[in-house]
Amino acid sequence: MKSNGIKILYVEDEDRARESLSRFLNRFCETLYIAKNGEEGLELYKNQTVDLVISDIKMPKKSGLEMVEAIKKIRSEQLVIFTTAHIDSEYLFQAIELQVDGYVAKPVDLDKLKVQIEKCILELQAKEAIKRLKESEERSRVVLETSQLGVFIYKEKFIYVNDIFAKLVGYTKEELYTMKVWELLEQKDRELIHRAILKRLKGESFPLFYKDIVLISKENNKIICRVSTETIQHEGDYAGLGTVLDITDILHTQEHLKQLAQAIEQMDEMVRITDKDGYITYVNEALTRHTGYKKSELIGNSNRLLKSGKHSEAFYKKMYEAIEKKESYAATFINAKKNGELYYEDQVITPILDEDQGTIKYYVSTSKDITQSVKMQEKMKALATLDSLTGIKNRYSVNNEIENEIKRAKRYKGAFALMMLDIDFFKRVNDTYGHDVGDYVLKEFSSIVLKGIRDTDIFGRWGGEEFMLLAPNETLDGVMILAEKIRKDIEAFEFEKVIHITVSIGITICDADIEKKKLLKKVDEALYEAKESGRNRVIYRKCNCVEGC
Ligand code: GH3
Ligand code: MG
Ligand code: MG
Repeated sequence: MKSNGIKILYVEDEDRARESLSRFLNRFCETLYIAKNGEEGLELYKNQTVDLVISDIKMPKKSGLEMVEAIKKIRSEQLVIFTTAHIDSEYLFQAIELQVDGYVAKPVDLDKLKVQIEKCILELQAKEAIKRLKESEERSRVVLETSQLGVFIYKEKFIYVNDIFAKLVGYTKEELYTMKVWELLEQKDRELIHRAILKRLKGESFPLFYKDIVLISKENNKIICRVSTETIQHEGDYAGLGTVLDITDILHTQEHLKQLAQAIEQMDEMVRITDKDGYITYVNEALTRHTGYKKSELIGNSNRLLKSGKHSEAFYKKMYEAIEKKESYAATFINAKKNGELYYEDQVITPILDEDQGTIKYYVSTSKDITQSVKMQEKMKALATLDSLTGIKNRYSVNNEIENEIKRAKRYKGAFALMMLDIDFFKRVNDTYGHDVGDYVLKEFSSIVLKGIRDTDIFGRWGGEEFMLLAPNETLDGVMILAEKIRKDIEAFEFEKVIHITVSIGITICDADIEKKKLLKKVDEALYEAKESGRNRVIYRKCNCVEGC
């Protein structure tokens, strides 16, 4: 009994009784505290931890009842046994009220006291055990109920499963307790695991970890699990303890992410992820294909690598302002490939935010190379404004230029010269040498004129063998010299087969507020006059509305 660690406080005022009982009590406990009266007993109690108090009732200074009353105030569940010669009802009632645990008459019958003490010690141990159990149960309960771990203890059959495990495999606990562990496994795994279980039940200790093992649920679904098992002692026997984590969802999510990543790799749209400082952390295959850079050359590098220098500071400022406000930004960027070639990128930049803090974590940019369509648009624009045979401006374009020049002349009180050129007897060229030769003459004619004019002059085909030339800020003298030069160049040029052709030119100067219609009429009249007066000549017609043109 001595090894039980029991501590007893014994209080007795009679010396003889105290000495003899002390010897007896010493056999029961590890530590015995002895006091001569209630007051001394209480003082001792206050300074020590005591499992059992054995006390006389009637004592000087402070009675046993008074002392126990004070003790119970300190610790209400304190075990107390009274020894007294006064077995009268008054004491008894008071003792009962104090909820003492035993009562032995004096002279003390040692056997009876022994029984009482043993009863108290048992009670003490039981209380302690219950307390420990409760604490450990509470700990286990919290672990088992709050974690997502399925827990099972097994011999060949399951002998314990928690709710999570039962729910996971779809059987009730009662059903599981009749089942053998391997019945939940796929056929291919059964034998291996059966062998491991048998070793475990013999007491071999070897922790096992299955990264992704399949459990078959009651409804025949496959559940992919992460399982770990170990050998434990259970009710004096060996058993296995296993924990299960359902990773089906995790694997599905992983698979889903893998598919997404593959899709991003395969799509033609360019994707790049940059950190908040503009350094590239991810690029997809399309981006490397379009830019000619390897992944390793882009990742870790700054976005600036792709800059073409074609955009102003203001262009990038606008972009930064939007994304710093955590907004998406869409624009067409002109960027540069590794070989320096420029390409147009229709790009959307989206800031990705930290879920908790709302700060920018990184930027995802998706873009399309639209170089082809930009070039196509340029081609279409050219087609719409250029003459397909000669490559010079067409009538539509010349018409626009005339309108622009009229507006400019009006705004700046300037002037411009308009020249209309018509090849003489061109019909004969066609009739004599064929249409192809006619075409050749038209092209050659255009290039001769183009060579003789300034960059600021606008020259285009008005239709058939008629051409227009606009010379901004030109004086009458200047335009007459130019027209004469053109006339002479054409006259002097030796065309293949045809040898010589001539051109008639009408000129007018627009130096006031004039409508386009009137201007064209004037220049046409000048040309008509040139034709009428013998062709191969230049005629100027004044154009002034004030003078009633
Ligand atoms: P004029 O001296 O009075 O200007 O006489 P012309 O023969 O030059 O004038 P006319 O208007 O009678 O004939 C113009 C000719 O130009 C008629 C047409 O077949 C020809 N023509 C117009 N467009 C083209 C073209 O694109 N290619 C070719 N080869 N000929 C064209
Ligand atoms: Mg004509
Ligand atoms: Mg003609």
